[in-house]
Amino acid sequence: MAVKQFKAESKKLLDLMINSIYSNKEIFLRELISNASDAIDKLYFRSLTDSSVGMNREDFKILLAADKDARILTLTDNGIGMTKEELEKNLGTIARSGSLDFKTENKAAEDIDIIGQFGVGFYSAFMVASRVTVVSRAFGSEEAWKWESKGAEGYTLTPADKEDVGTEITLVIKEDTENENYSQFLDEFTLVNIVKKYSDYVRYPIQMYRHKSRMKDKPEDAPEDYKPEYEEYTELETLNSMVPLWKRSKDEVKPEEYNQFYKEKFFDYTDPARVITSRTEGTATYNALLFIPGRAPYDYYTREYEKGLQLYASGVLIMEKCADLLPDHFSFVKGIVDSQDLSLNISREMLQKDSQLRLIRNSLEKKIKNELNAMKNNEREKYEEFWKNFGRQLKFGCYNDYGAHSELLKDLLLFYSAREKKLVTLEEYVQKMGEEQKCIYYAAGENVEQLAKLPAAELVLDKGYDLLLLTEDVDEFCLQVLRSYQDKEFKNVNSGDLGLETEEEKKAAEAAAEENKDLFEDLQKALEGKVKAVKLSGRLKSHPVCLSSEGPLSLEMEKVLNAVPNSQKVQSERVLELNGSHPVFEALKAAKAAGDEEKLKKYAYLLYNQALLIEGMPVEDPLAYADAVCELMK
Ligand code: ADP
Repeated sequence: MAVKQFKAESKKLLDLMINSIYSNKEIFLRELISNASDAIDKLYFRSLTDSSVGMNREDFKILLAADKDARILTLTDNGIGMTKEELEKNLGTIARSGSLDFKTENKAAEDIDIIGQFGVGFYSAFMVASRVTVVSRAFGSEEAWKWESKGAEGYTLTPADKEDVGTEITLVIKEDTENENYSQFLDEFTLVNIVKKYSDYVRYPIQMYRHKSRMKDKPEDAPEDYKPEYEEYTELETLNSMVPLWKRSKDEVKPEEYNQFYKEKFFDYTDPARVITSRTEGTATYNALLFIPGRAPYDYYTREYEKGLQLYASGVLIMEKCADLLPDHFSFVKGIVDSQDLSLNISREMLQKDSQLRLIRNSLEKKIKNELNAMKNNEREKYEEFWKNFGRQLKFGCYNDYGAHSELLKDLLLFYSAREKKLVTLEEYVQKMGEEQKCIYYAAGENVEQLAKLPAAELVLDKGYDLLLLTEDVDEFCLQVLRSYQDKEFKNVNSGDLGLETEEEKKAAEAAAEENKDLFEDLQKALEGKVKAVKLSGRLKSHPVCLSSEGPLSLEMEKVLNAVPNSQKVQSERVLELNGSHPVFEALKAAKAAGDEEKLKKYAYLLYNQALLIEGMPVEDPLAYADAVCELMK
């Protein structure tokens, strides 16, 4: 009989299992039971539309049997089974290439990590077994096959006899060593505990014959000093409660159980940040168990990421990832929805139009929002951690669909406050505003430190107003869509009128502008096509010049939009602002008074480029700018 070789990755994983020092070896049972349950799911699902299966829901079960003396543990299921080809393909090749980025170096610490994080399916049997035999008969097939392996050297595949459809896995449990008690996996009591711990919510009964003893009836003619006699018997017991976790009420379930469930089901190794349960009756009847992940999946902000919730109809999985259940702004949520209003055989197309599903979706959206809000109010630190992971998505959510979801999301937003030096909500910002402050001020740019130093930012802070510092590309777009919060408009410190001046200051500025009207006209002409206007500034303290914008597009938004590859380039309506009390302005006035047009042009050019530099924008012609500065020094 030819021994077949494992595929390379499988062999590596197998080696790891066999030599594993991983302490949590008991998970092998969870893995095998979960495979059995999946196999039953498949056949049960089939039975709903195919009468030739000839089985009812209650016929399906998983049977566990331990023989201490022979050191044999058997797990039998009456699921869909495997054909010869499937045995070869499924057990000869590692199936989980996606979730497991396999490392070749066998560093012990890493091994533990891999096993701990993902669970490793069928091969984990080799952590406890010196030989694994799988006898399987696939549904619809007349023949059975036996797959057998003692480990890394390979496996054999031979014809076998099996009366019923399904799979029987036999493990020869390893001998105990100095450090390792393998015999426990033959002990009934231990097995019961392992099943309860990991597989309690498996939907099919997991049964085992348990050895028990009972007191015999006392004989009628028992003597005075009769000692009770006992007899041994066996009884088939169902070990798991079978009620899916999401059908149990929240106070019945321990937090660890939820965490464990989440990690196993959604392949995460971090506990969820929050568990959300929801059951509703009435217009839409469903149970939902949702999780907010504790970290963002590595592909979360890419096209590869697929949102969706697992959808069950009366306890049977009908869709692995139902995208229609989750709005995009909550695409990070993982979980399960189980509804009895849905038909098992509903197609994807029908599902999209299903009004029941829409009701569920809307009610889940509200629920998620409320939970996030509660987290924000009661567990701020945790919420900030959440915000680090998924805040960006909420901001996009505000902006998308022309702000259709901004009402829902606006109170979940956090922004960095320049005065508080921490993240604040819009409500917190507004609460601390004084009577006289009319707008919510913000500055947008690369980083918080630079932003706080912007001339206009300093001016706002000096006035005693707080300022939101926006450093993500989506931020300003998000605020623009919101327009205002509690009737306070958002105001970019670098665009338009800041509204900081008193009436007198305004009048004085108007007078000064009038006085230098010709000068500004000349400067504007010199910068034709570059700026829309040249003005006296109300936002400069010590700097001679700055760039601001008019209209809906800010300088920062221009930068963001133009950074998108292959985008049509946009330009904000730039305004060059001059500081009327700066010596540079005197120089300009002098040049104008002397009628030196060339000089004035050169100054205009220099100041414009300086303003670009301050804004962190590229100067149009660096060489020409450098030459102009040098010439001035000569
Ligand atoms: P996974 O379960 O993550 O796919 P496994 O290595 O545990 O990875 O199993 C590989 C495949 O073998 C399964 O996907 C399934 O198709 C098949 N399989 C395992 N156990 C059984 C079983 N008891 N009955 C039917 N098929 C099984």
